[in-house]
Amino acid sequence: MKALKFIHKFPVIFLLLIVFYFSAGSESIGKSGDYTAARKNMVLYQIRHRGITDRAVLNAMESVFRHEFVEAAYKRKAYEDRPLPIGYGQTISQPYIVAIMSQLLNVDKESRVLEIGTGSGYQAAVLARIAKEVYTIEIVKPLHERSQKALNRLGYQNIRTLNADGYFGWSAHAPFDAIIVTCASDFIPPPLIDQLKPGGLMCIPVGPPFKVQHLVLVKKGEKGELSTKVITSVRFVPLTRNQSRKEE
Ligand code: SAH
Repeated sequence: MKALKFIHKFPVIFLLLIVFYFSAGSESIGKSGDYTAARKNMVLYQIRHRGITDRAVLNAMESVFRHEFVEAAYKRKAYEDRPLPIGYGQTISQPYIVAIMSQLLNVDKESRVLEIGTGSGYQAAVLARIAKEVYTIEIVKPLHERSQKALNRLGYQNIRTLNADGYFGWSAHAPFDAIIVTCASDFIPPPLIDQLKPGGLMCIPVGPPFKVQHLVLVKKGEKGELSTKVITSVRFVPLTRNQSRKEE
């Protein structure tokens, strides 16, 4: 009863408190489209809490504007714990998958990395913050063009993009310290193995299209010998082969 009397005396303060409570708690996206808080939450709850410890990866994920890599309709969902459609039947991977693959590659500021499946360009942007250079190939031309535009707009200068069939890798810039494949293949494409440096690592989802696949980490030994390790189960869009184009 005492509390009710208090409310009666100060109705304006009470109303302000209610407004503050709901605006602070319900949405972590700021009024001016500032996603900083959403990004911090994503890194803490989806990535650090799930065991990703690599500082460079955590910093990269905290600074790359994921919302700039999705279509306008999905911006507010950009930091959610799931993949999102990017058109043409393709998806931008779930943030945790981007993080674990980036950590597995074990790259640093000296590394040159090849990515197969540019998609939105987000994974390339994350790697560009950790590595020296990123080369990324996309088979779907409109996605290649859109991702290139986004990466230019955001000022990434150490990423080179190509519209081609990534099955063949990018021999002009090989060998690479690390290769990341973000579409699933039934087998590891031999040209990619050839273009991996001795001592290098490749992370690739292996398995049938639209079914559960294995995320495999491939290590190429100093003498070219391969060892593989299954990391977890994943579900990626398939590596397609029907729009092949020659290297530019
Ligand atoms: N790394 C992306 C996720 C892309 S989804 C991101 O951060 O958004 C996988 C992408 O691989 C799709 O865009 C698809 O078009 C592309 N892809 C499929 N087969 C390919 C191939 N043979 N060569 C290059 N890209 C391919």
